[in-house]
Parts: sequence; C-alpha cells; structure tokens
Amino acid sequence: MYTTCLTKIRRWPMNPMVTSASCTAHVGGSSLWNSARNSRQDRRRCFDESLRLPRHMEERIAIGRHFWIFAAFIAVVGCTTTGDNPAAVVQQHRCQTNNVAIDTDFPTGNIASCEATAADQVSLKLVPEDAPPINCSAWYAFRIDPRDAGTLTIKLDYEVCGHRYWPKISTDGHNWSPVEQDAVVLSEVDEVKQAQFTLKHGTKPLFVAGQEIVGPSDYQAWIDDVSQLPDAVPWVLGQSLEKRPIPAMTIKAPDTHPREQIVLIGRQHPPEITGALALFPFVETLLSDEPVAIRFRKRFETIVIPMLNPDGVTHGHWRHSSGLKDLNRDWGPFTQPETQLMAGLLEKIEADPARNLRLFIDFHSTQKDVFYTIPDDYPTNPPLFLKKWLARLSSAIPGYEINRDANHHLDQPNSKNYVYAKYRVPTVTFEIGDETDRALIAHIGREAALAMMHELLATEPDSPTK
Ligand SMILES: [Zn+2]
Repeated sequence: MYTTCLTKIRRWPMNPMVTSASCTAHVGGSSLWNSARNSRQDRRRCFDESLRLPRHMEERIAIGRHFWIFAAFIAVVGCTTTGDNPAAVVQQHRCQTNNVAIDTDFPTGNIASCEATAADQVSLKLVPEDAPPINCSAWYAFRIDPRDAGTLTIKLDYEVCGHRYWPKISTDGHNWSPVEQDAVVLSEVDEVKQAQFTLKHGTKPLFVAGQEIVGPSDYQAWIDDVSQLPDAVPWVLGQSLEKRPIPAMTIKAPDTHPREQIVLIGRQHPPEITGALALFPFVETLLSDEPVAIRFRKRFETIVIPMLNPDGVTHGHWRHSSGLKDLNRDWGPFTQPETQLMAGLLEKIEADPARNLRLFIDFHSTQKDVFYTIPDDYPTNPPLFLKKWLARLSSAIPGYEINRDANHHLDQPNSKNYVYAKYRVPTVTFEIGDETDRALIAHIGREAALAMMHELLATEPDSPTK
C-alpha cells in the first residue's frame, strides 16, 4: 500500500449532484513538518483554476499534498463539484457494461478505446500518443464507476510496446495498492506483452493506473505546502505549449543571495512517477531542519522545476509533450516551449555575475534504479562531485547497491549532456525503477539529498571570478 493524491468521486448512473470536499490527512515525519502542520491544514482549498485542464475542466477540482518521509506520508484534500446534465456526463464514459462504466475523465486519465466484451469484462486498447518508434512507457489510467458491487475482468490490449506497468488501484486516488499478483495474467501476442486482471469492486468508483497518479494539482498543492516555509518561494517558470503553468520553487535561506546554484527538474516524461516519488523527499530534505540543510540553504540556492511537461502529464502521454516531442531529446534543438524555458533559465544564471551553476539533477524512472552520470574523466567544477556523492550515498544506505552508468547515451541531446557540455558542471539523470519499493524510494530521496548537501558543502566556495 502506498499513497499519492487526487481526486473527485462521483456515482454512476449519473444524477445531478454536488459532492462536498472529502479528505484524509496522514501527517508524519520530521519536526519540520509537524511544526508547520496546523497552518497547512487550514490552507486546504480547491485547486487553483489556473492549473485546471482544458478537457472537462468544468467538472474537476482536485488538490493533494505530499509528505514523503521514509514511509511516504501524504495528506490530501479532494474537493469536487458536479451538477452536470446526466446525458452530458454519460458521453464522457468510454464504455459500459450493465454494471460498470469506464471513464478517463481526470488528469492523467488515458486509454485509446474501450469495449465491453461481456457482462463483467472490458477490453481496453492502449496506444501511444505518437506513432512508433516511441519509448515504451505504456501508461494507462482509468476509472471504474460501478452500479453494484461485483467483479470486473479487464484486458489491456497493446498494439505496440506491450505491458510495462503493474496495475495499481485506488478508491480515492490517494491510497494505492498494486493489484494482487495472482489476479494478473500476462501473455504475449505477436511478441507484444499483454495483461489481463480481475478486480473485485464495491459500489465506489475505483481508479486503475499504471502507477500512482501524481498530476498537476498534486504538484501545485505540494509546492503550496512546502512554500509555507520561509526558505521556499514558489514561482512559475512559464507556460507549456497548451498554456499550462510550469511550477517552480526556489530554496534558500531568507535574506541571502547565494552565488552557488543547484537546478533540479522532473517529469519530462509523463509516466515516470517513481522519479517524482524520489524528488519530493529529496526537496523536502533540502528544506528540513537537519543541521546540514540549514547550512546548505545559506550557501546554496536550489531551483526546483518538478514537472516540466504538464501537458504530457495531464493527457496521460507515454512519453511526449503536447508538441509530440520527447522533451529529453530536445536539449540543444530547443524546439519546444518547455525546453526553451529551461535553456533560458540556465542562461540567465550564467549571465548573472552574482550567480554560478554548480550542479544539475534530472529525475526520471526506468526499469531499475540507476544514476546516468557524465564520466568521471569529464572535467567539472566542482571536480569529481558525482563520484564522491554516490560513494557517500552508498555508505548511507547499507545493503543498497548504487548502480551508476557513466556512459549512457553520451551523444543524445538530453538534459544531462546539454547542461554538462554548456556549463561544465556535474550532471546526472536520477532514475528510479518502476516498481522499486515506495518506502525505499523515499529513503533514497532523503539520503541522496543529505549526501549531496554534505559533499557540496565540502567543496571550496565558488570564486566570484568564475
Ligand atoms: Zn525519463
């Protein structure tokens, strides 16, 4: 069982109704969070209109909040209103049996098509947003809206790439569980992996997704929460191609002007949830009251762009932005507004004589935990930081094997290669495995942040004559 955020609940068949806010709060962890808890709980509110989605935006409001402290605690508020014409709502169903309707009417919701193949069975086609070749991150997310309790067999029908993400379920979009091992049957058709599973459901809507759902409203709620701390300041990097805001946050001690800059980014690739599950505790550790974090925030400024691809996340894309580009192959060409904004941000730091970039980390997910770094023989300032950082991380998590690949796609126009080539700073793609234990991810995120801060503080302060 693990937790994330969301979402609205409604019943089917649809009657005009209003569902009031409902929420469950789970708060735990550091004194940082406990001390700020009360004020945050007062600040629960529906998700800002500015982040709502062009599709179905009249219906959904969601807010979430996260606390990832070892065991990943999260507090969530969902507030929802519906008052819709029943006929209009029914049109949003992708298909229905006599007992359940399937829809994707929420951020990250995505299936290509849906067919009721028996009274208690549906077949869902899963197709990428773009023609192959495309990275095979076969995302899916949908909601089952039952009339009565029962069972439903769901066939995931892949034309290309095949099944990758183990299905996960949630009744509230907040608490997630993997579907039981023996309920899932995997097979191959023409060498494409397929999946079928049977779920017991009650009368409540049930979310099913490839990973926990972490959408734009969750990021905004998280930023709203952490930026109540005086050392975190939220801002907006700019707009995506579809005019969604790209949230950002700056972390530093108040009334300081640190010269040395760290840039963290995430979610270039929409389905890569586990990278986000590492970024949250990483950033929260930078903001914690650990002595090393307090010292760090006086000397270093950290800029966090936790979700560079809000369009792709919202549409439930497998890989691309709404411009149908892999953003992490666009660092150099810079054909997309999202990557152009990042290039501009880095350029602005470089052009400022009072600031200097020191480190760049890009959070992703893949089949295993791995740090894709530049090679150690590439000169950087600070020198050999990545080697020292990962050695320290290794000793901080006994028994956890650090998997480093310093030669992964060194010729690709990705963020790691571009930022190194241009600024000669240490760069890394921080990859977490799709199914890595969620408590371990939180642990890795926290320890990686602590190790980073210790190692950066051990470096000579950057000279003003850069
Ligand atoms: Zn990725």
